[in-house]
Amino acid sequence: MEKQKKARTAHVVLTSHSNQVFKDTPPINWGEKDPKKRGPVIATISEKQNRNAIGTHSGSYTVYRALSIASGAFPKLHKPELANTEGTFRFKPNPSWFDSTKIVTIDPLGADINIHFKDYLDAGYNIKPTIAVTQAHLHIPEVRDAVNEGRLKIDGKIVKEDFSIKCTKVALEPVWYLPGMAERLNVSEGELRKVLFQETGGMFPELVTRPDLKLMLPPIGSSTAYIFGDPDDIHNTDKELTCRVHDECNGSDVFGSDICTCRPYLTWGIEDAARTAQRGGVGLIVYFRKEGRALGEVTKFLVYNARKRQEGGDSAKNYFYRTECVAGVQDARFQEFMPDVLHYLGVKKIHNLHSMSNMKYDAIVGSGIEVVNRLSIPEELIPADAMVEIEAKKAAGYFTEGEIKDSKDLESVQGRKLDE
Ligand SMILES: [Zn+2]
Repeated sequence: MEKQKKARTAHVVLTSHSNQVFKDTPPINWGEKDPKKRGPVIATISEKQNRNAIGTHSGSYTVYRALSIASGAFPKLHKPELANTEGTFRFKPNPSWFDSTKIVTIDPLGADINIHFKDYLDAGYNIKPTIAVTQAHLHIPEVRDAVNEGRLKIDGKIVKEDFSIKCTKVALEPVWYLPGMAERLNVSEGELRKVLFQETGGMFPELVTRPDLKLMLPPIGSSTAYIFGDPDDIHNTDKELTCRVHDECNGSDVFGSDICTCRPYLTWGIEDAARTAQRGGVGLIVYFRKEGRALGEVTKFLVYNARKRQEGGDSAKNYFYRTECVAGVQDARFQEFMPDVLHYLGVKKIHNLHSMSNMKYDAIVGSGIEVVNRLSIPEELIPADAMVEIEAKKAAGYFTEGEIKDSKDLESVQGRKLDE
């Protein structure tokens, strides 16, 4: 072990070094229908000559992997044993998979690599799935409440006798096709690469030295789709689809912190998704790890304090302004890329979209998906301290079926004081 550690630290090969360009690297032809021509995403560290992507697997967890290898607890050359890991459901290819502009942040061939890339696997290439599909039963107190209050019924199929909801869940790691992302952001690929390199403190030199590598597996959080009902019906526009695309808010989603509406929105979406499945449709919740409008929890908590300490207290009037003061922007989530997951799953029409956000709505509709109804959260589910957020969002043009307050009224919508 000691010898192995020394060997690793003594020999560092820079990714920018010219001898890191190999002839036998399988090329990637994004959007190509034949998997053999499209090529597998290879981001293994152990066989450098095969790598055709910048970065490594597992998103942000790659850093923890490095720590465990550094500590000697993890074998550096581990090759995944994938027997019996096949998904509980297999998504059939849909036209979006083979359109190089429709999906640019996920590898549509990232699941079922044993089928798509059997020849490469047989030839010994170290390929890892970037999408995994499994089943789960969700136990959620709000769902139990919905049953007890008569809004949701136990049917033994979708909602079980123990109040759990049965679902299929899909984990998706980010795989970025840089030319497609640049196009969607309306910037040049070179500019996108340069800024990604600079703003990560020079983390991935290949962004600027290897324009031939078109893919990047960025060290960011993944996303998860929870599907209620038959996943095969998602692409069937005749079947009712209820959908919520939810951005992570750990404090509310998991811990029930009541300054925002995130958890109530999420559980209301799940409840309605289950109801839709019971009516013969499909429910879909997509959960994105984009904590605090993708600005992170530290920024978010600083904003909470600034909001509550500002002159006049926490009012709906200054809700967005405070975030911009602290973070420089109001929002860094880039909803432009959010619909990629929907296109992967084959969504063409959403009958009920659970969201107030125009950014989400515009991104979904702009990507070619039809939205029939938009639903905002019922007033009785909004926590007391979150009225500031809701009223500010409505006044800023977020979707609502209710009344919109004017500037003076917004001042009167006050949150709890800091020490209350
Ligand atoms: Zn929240």
